[in-house]
Amino acid sequence: MYLPGLAQTDPEIRDLIIAEEKREWEKVRLIPSENYASSAVMEATGSVFTNKYSEGYPGKRYYEGQQLTDRVENLAIDRAKKIFGMEHANVQPYSGSPANMTVYHALLEHGDTIMGLALPHGGHLTHGWKVNFSGKSYHSVPYELDPATELLNYDKILEQAKEVKPKLIIAGYTAYPRTIDFAKFREICDAVGAFFHADISHITGLIIGGAHPSPFPMADTGTTTSHKTLRGPRGALIVSRKEYAEKIDKAIIPGLQGGPHNHTTAAIAVALKEASTPEFKQYAQQVVRNAKALAEELNANGFRLVSGGTDNHLILFETLKSKGISGRDAAKAFDKAGIVTNCNTVPFDPSSPFNPAGVRIGTPAITSRGMKEPEMKKIGKWMNEVIEHHADEQVLARIAAEVKEMCQSFPCPGINPGNWES
Ligand SMILES: *Cc1c(COP(=O)(O)O)cnc(C)c1O
Repeated sequence: MYLPGLAQTDPEIRDLIIAEEKREWEKVRLIPSENYASSAVMEATGSVFTNKYSEGYPGKRYYEGQQLTDRVENLAIDRAKKIFGMEHANVQPYSGSPANMTVYHALLEHGDTIMGLALPHGGHLTHGWKVNFSGKSYHSVPYELDPATELLNYDKILEQAKEVKPKLIIAGYTAYPRTIDFAKFREICDAVGAFFHADISHITGLIIGGAHPSPFPMADTGTTTSHKTLRGPRGALIVSRKEYAEKIDKAIIPGLQGGPHNHTTAAIAVALKEASTPEFKQYAQQVVRNAKALAEELNANGFRLVSGGTDNHLILFETLKSKGISGRDAAKAFDKAGIVTNCNTVPFDPSSPFNPAGVRIGTPAITSRGMKEPEMKKIGKWMNEVIEHHADEQVLARIAAEVKEMCQSFPCPGINPGNWES
């Protein structure tokens, strides 16, 4: 019997878990922030470390019984420092958003000026968007992409920084398909005396695998989620220079959090170990090759890609003007055809973030299943067919069946279909 505890206690949830495993197996999952965690990561996440309270840090806890939690957290810390080449790591943030909150809490006072990329241009909510804590507690003056190239314009960012004199500048995005020149951000921050914070949540796996330049050790602080290209559990970590270590640690506790999620910490340690293997490097390189191959196929089929293509794991394309369908309707049609994406604003998109003009996709999850360039070509063709026949339920169902058929040849890490029969 698979999931025997749930079979006895809560069959409804057991059925939903199995159904979700099937969904993740049968679909082409293109949401660029999603992935497949390995069974090793899943085992650590589901372990007894969920039972332990351990406020504080290794060697400095409030409660007893920390002989083993200290060792787990130290392993995660040491691996994080090593893999990112930074002097300090804190592995306790509950997720990416609280990790950013922690950095601001550590380095800023309420009302201080910050500069991050505007959300409609690819920045994250926590980089100063007006309805987010980061835009309410701090004076946020977002920078934007260049209207002609849809790329970062470092000269303009420097000009704006000189004008508004931010105390902290954020580099790192959720919907930017191109390489980030972190050295330029270091120069800009130095020119205006701002902290340089790198939020590499989306591209951590690429950075570790050598498929994108690292902001470290140039950046003063860095945050990353652990569940995106890194393929770990849902969680996050912060790295920093030694001089900010104490402020960061105090901003976590007593500043913002209580007990760390030790089961997550254990799984982060596992993910970092997996990420230091040659196989992970190959995965990271293939993620980018796949994204480029998929971008090429979409370009060939008349999709308008933001910035014309991609350098990383992510592709953003416009549908409203170029294909006559809103991003949300396009994403809904893709989903019916077994291709899971998310609608997204595109730069200078006049529509609202809830009904935007584009779609965001990425290749981390399908690369984790071993898909390569030939599959990218197929996926690109299917996507074009979906758009052309988005109102034809029969065509969408036929494509969904073809997608499912292809998926059978590409096992998902962390999921074993043999379990479903038992
Ligand atoms: C995903 C993401 C976050 C937020 O992470 P959550 O775990 O969803 O809170 C923060 N910053 C960036 C750049 C992200 O991509």
